[in-house]
Amino acid sequence: MINIKDNLALIEQQISQSCQQASRTKETVALLAVSKTKPGALIEQAYQCGQRAFGESYVQEAVDKIAQLKHLPDICWHFIGPIQSNKTRAIAENFSWVHSIDRVKIARRLNEGRSGHDTPLNVCLQVNISGEASKSGVTVADLDELAEVIANCPHLRLRGLMAIPEKNAPLSSYSKMQNLFRQLQQQYPELDTLSMGMSGDLQAAITNGSTMVRIGSAIFGSREQ
Ligand SMILES: *Cc1c(COP(=O)(O)O)cnc(C)c1O
Repeated sequence: MINIKDNLALIEQQISQSCQQASRTKETVALLAVSKTKPGALIEQAYQCGQRAFGESYVQEAVDKIAQLKHLPDICWHFIGPIQSNKTRAIAENFSWVHSIDRVKIARRLNEGRSGHDTPLNVCLQVNISGEASKSGVTVADLDELAEVIANCPHLRLRGLMAIPEKNAPLSSYSKMQNLFRQLQQQYPELDTLSMGMSGDLQAAITNGSTMVRIGSAIFGSREQ
């Protein structure tokens, strides 16, 4: 049996400790509970413990759960998975945030898909920081162009950057992300989100400026693959 309440408390404690070690206040790091593959009932348990932001990676599964949990006020859904262009409308209509934009075409389609809403879609650009061919994410070289496209999309609100450093990535990957984020903030001072850190690398991420950690298995238990 997983105990969501205890798991959330433990993660909050780890966030606090990492913040303390980095001379940051714990309020500067938000917790996104990654609920992909997990049933609505577990999400509702986390909600009852006070958690409001949830991350999902698979569109159809997420849309079903969002409908199922519509009765929960203030619940906030973040899309963090790879984006296929035929899914952009469903994402734009159902989510408040998207962390995984990595190309211009997807940005434009999300902008269009959001046009009927009165609030913009909050977005982060996913950066391929490890430079692996297999991983998604915009390259550092293409980052500025993509940011500019998004800044000019009326239905998107650029909030910052997201990264998934590879397992056992050197600490330099994390500090590179922090530097990229600071550079982009020079140009867009309203940026406030560096989405970085998962169950296994929360501390490295917080040490290097993460403002939002995406935690799945440490809250909801391991996922079947
Ligand atoms: C699944 C996932 C997470 C959560 O990973 P855990 O190791 O279970 O904490 C975070 N970010 C992204 C993009 C994911 O796909």
